[in-house]
Amino acid sequence: MTSLNEARRDLAARLETAGIADAAIEAKYLLAAATGLEGASLIAEGHREFTTDEADRLEAMAARRLAREPLAHILGNQPFWTLDLEVSPDVLIPRTDTETLVETALDLMPSASGIQRVLDVGTGSGAVLLAILKERPNAYGIGTDVSPAALTIAERNAVRNGLDGRSSFRQTSWVDGLRGGDFDLAVSNPPYIATAVIAGLEPEVRDHDPALALDGGEDGLDAYRVLLPELFRILKPGAPMAVEIGFDQAASVSALAGEAGFTGMAIRRDLGGNDRVVSALKPK
Ligand code: GLN
Repeated sequence: MTSLNEARRDLAARLETAGIADAAIEAKYLLAAATGLEGASLIAEGHREFTTDEADRLEAMAARRLAREPLAHILGNQPFWTLDLEVSPDVLIPRTDTETLVETALDLMPSASGIQRVLDVGTGSGAVLLAILKERPNAYGIGTDVSPAALTIAERNAVRNGLDGRSSFRQTSWVDGLRGGDFDLAVSNPPYIATAVIAGLEPEVRDHDPALALDGGEDGLDAYRVLLPELFRILKPGAPMAVEIGFDQAASVSALAGEAGFTGMAIRRDLGGNDRVVSALKPK
């Protein structure tokens, strides 16, 4: 017979051989999904027999993962900040690096007694907007996306995390149709990878994240050229914005922000030490 522990070890070894970095952790998540057991029961029941049904379920998931489909697509969800988010191939899988964008935004918009209005452009799964709303009980947010399929996921994530009363989602290109001078904070994690770089990315990203969420054009900066002047337009005077950037884009995105009229540009690094966010203020 095969025990749960053995099944888990076998899977971890196969994932590792396939070049998957966090093989042991991923094996645990997949085994949990195949058995319906949470972490602690998975350990407590480690010596019991692995049933045929469980083995079939695990094998189906393992085959997908070995073909380099992202774990989040197989499980259907991804943790981000303190949220649990539904994900699908219609949205960029939220990255830990993007929590740096949330931290920056929260620093720039401390809690206030009055209503605070937040805009997230290209919201995808809703990750950034919903994390900010979770931390700022007086904030109301709008998330825009050009993809209706992404917005369906974002709306479900708002409900799933109890934030649907303070968020709304709008299908539009960038901020088209939104009133000028209306927001206390604007954020975005736009597509910023140079087109030629995409072919060399890991298969999980290249083949499974939406190209719309990755491709920043020839130099990776196309989105910022459109986005920054638009963020400037919709912010209230004196209000901040923060955008995620690629590790080598701090200088160019800061310069584009300056051209759009922003002042007080600042750069923030992610936990890996890479430049990850540019923030700035619309002058009063
Ligand atoms: N950080 C993502 C990646 O490297 C890219 C996301 C984006 O372009 N906004 O996979």
